[in-house]
Amino acid sequence: MNSKTILVTGGAGFIGSHLCKRLLAQNHKIICVDNLLTGSLKNISNFLNDENFEFLNHDIITPLFIDYVDEIYNLACPASPIHYQNNPIKTIKTCTIGVINLLGLAKKHNAKILQASTSEVYGDPNVHPQIESYNGNVNPIGFRSCYDEGKRCSETLFMDYRREHGLNIKIVRIFNTYGPNMAINDGRVVSNFINQAINNNDITINGDGYQTRSFQYVEDLIDGLIKMMNSENDFVGPVNMGNPDEISINDLAKRIIKLVNSNSKLIYKDLPKDDPKRRKPDISLSLDKLNWKPLYDLEVGLINTIDYFKALGNK
Ligand code: NAD
Ligand code: UDP
Repeated sequence: MNSKTILVTGGAGFIGSHLCKRLLAQNHKIICVDNLLTGSLKNISNFLNDENFEFLNHDIITPLFIDYVDEIYNLACPASPIHYQNNPIKTIKTCTIGVINLLGLAKKHNAKILQASTSEVYGDPNVHPQIESYNGNVNPIGFRSCYDEGKRCSETLFMDYRREHGLNIKIVRIFNTYGPNMAINDGRVVSNFINQAINNNDITINGDGYQTRSFQYVEDLIDGLIKMMNSENDFVGPVNMGNPDEISINDLAKRIIKLVNSNSKLIYKDLPKDDPKRRKPDISLSLDKLNWKPLYDLEVGLINTIDYFKALGNK
């Protein structure tokens, strides 16, 4: 495989660090850009001495100047509801000004650019499972809007740069993803439940727990992102990437308690406003165009993630 120079923004985050690892293993030169807002140098500590890896502590809201780049994966953006709701203006600036800066960089170097978009563009969906042609049900003025509308605007910017400047773009709508390297204080459901279970603390269920999500293991997503980047130029997406195996939050909690062999009890809290009731991807497009579908069973992925958090606690 030819070695390329690849920029990964958000590369010190959960998904970004797995992507850097995989691309380094394929002998590419990686420029990892991150402002460490929610990411951590710990996630990339194994690569910092690799001659093919360069880390730039940089915020994409400020223009970035680099000498050369073949491909850009834009993952920079807080993804946990707690984090983006604590930084709403920063989040929307990252999704708009930050994305314009990266699209400008891609234009300058004639680089291919992939956007990590999200199932949140569908909001609290009225169509189930969610298919790419569904335009969503998003509240433009709520607590999740900085992220949902921010990501929708990023998609618009990507499409307009393609139409106006002919950029080679790719858009992936990522559904709930979990795995090692999630931050322990991340606030997302899988990391919260696992850490609560390991410590025999109460498992905090929001609402009645009947809301559903579909959880994808991070290694599956990395396969998909790289396949999408290397797909034919005329396939730009948006394409869904997620695991269609839908589960209620109650059932997720019970499975984690069982796998950890924990004494934790379930406790119920208020459901946050605009929390989507159901979410499950239709992945026929990724199967058809990329021959991609997730391979990891939820149980295997959860065991790997539990092992990761247990090892952290022992350090
Ligand atoms: P994460 O918070 O672990 O990673 C995001 C990274 O971006 C962090 O390292 C953070 O420090 C960095 N960052 C944030 N704002 C930045 C800025 N202005 N400039 C530079 N760096 C910045 O989250 P993640 O789960 O790894 O998500 C990665 C991407 O995937 C995000 O764009 C997110 O929206 C998208 N996504 C994730 C999921 C999921 O379930 N994990 C689902 C849908 C979409
Ligand atoms: N959730 C929960 N307890 C927690 C964290 C989250 O019940 O400690 C719920 C949350 O309200 C939502 C689902 O789990 O219904 C998934 O939440 P997460 O923040 O992981 O991602 P989302 O899909 O909402 O962006």
